Amino acid sequence: MQRFPCPFCGLRDETEFFYAGDLGKVRPDTTQPVSDEEWSAYLNDYANVKGRAKEVWVHTACQEYLALERDTVTMDVLSVTQFRKGEI
Ligand SMILES: [Zn+2]
Repeated sequence: MQRFPCPFCGLRDETEFFYAGDLGKVRPDTTQPVSDEEWSAYLNDYANVKGRAKEVWVHTACQEYLALERDTVTMDVLSVTQFRKGEI
């Protein structure tokens, strides 16, 4: 089992977190028409990186969104910071 370091709660089991998506993924601008293909790609396509991945995770205990960089091969967590929409 992986353990992720929450900046607020400390080192916790991965079961307390859920994956919220790739870091940097941009939601389509819904003030303009969005095609089914664009919307489907936004909802379903992920980078699925082998190696260094930048992801957004949510810690369910504190409800904080975290920007987490980890190696998907070694499962090492390389960095974790609080995620604020628009800042990263
Ligand atoms: Zn936390």
